[in-house]
Amino acid sequence: MTSVIGNLQGVHSRIAQACAAAGRPVDSVTLLAVSKTFPAAAVRDAFDAGCRQFGENYVQEMLDKIATLADLRPQITWHLIGPLQSNKTRPVAEAVDWVHSVDRLKIAQRLSEQRPDHLGPLQVCLQVNISGETSKSGFAPADVLAAAQAVAALPRLRLRGLMAIPEPAGDMDAQRAPHRALRALLDTLNASGLALDTLSMGMSADLEAAVAEGATIVRVGTAIFGGRTYPA
Ligand SMILES: *Cc1c(COP(=O)(O)O)cnc(C)c1O
Repeated sequence: MTSVIGNLQGVHSRIAQACAAAGRPVDSVTLLAVSKTFPAAAVRDAFDAGCRQFGENYVQEMLDKIATLADLRPQITWHLIGPLQSNKTRPVAEAVDWVHSVDRLKIAQRLSEQRPDHLGPLQVCLQVNISGETSKSGFAPADVLAAAQAVAALPRLRLRGLMAIPEPAGDMDAQRAPHRALRALLDTLNASGLALDTLSMGMSADLEAAVAEGATIVRVGTAIFGGRTYPA
């Protein structure tokens, strides 16, 4: 608990400094606490320290935590940020507020069909393979405009913007380049008539570069919760 509080203060001050350096208001960046691999008790600690936005990577782990923390559900906004298989879209459409990792049209179509009406639209971002890594999922930049137009037309989704996981780079200039490219892509979409307000980019190691280039949501795990150990 103490460490989560102290870590959160550190992350908030990094975001504040990055905003000041970029001439941006500090409330233009939302901190998404990425709690993957950490128990529900850690989410509760972060909640008690003021976090209300939580991100998870693995569908079943996320659903389990949402169930365990049902008492907090009305106050928490849950974001899926990890890969989504088409056979898992229904429980996700029924349980979460945001999906950042839409990387195929079929996933968006299923989420739209399966989103219960009473929940209101599911907020989505398209994941973009901005560094062109063969191992990464996401739309190729050249395919994003057509995909965005198709997703924006789906009834129970609200397309909010773009998400990326840029490759780590050696220095600030190099780290800013892929974030700038994602920002430019968002500008292109908006110039073509869409009205998107979200750039989900920046993690523990590169949030300054992301904020400098216009991130509106930074997804931070390690710097809040500490190092992760994955099950073998
Ligand atoms: C794990 C993860 C994060 C958080 O990464 P940290 O380096 O721990 O801050 C952010 N985004 C995605 C998509 C992740 O999988």
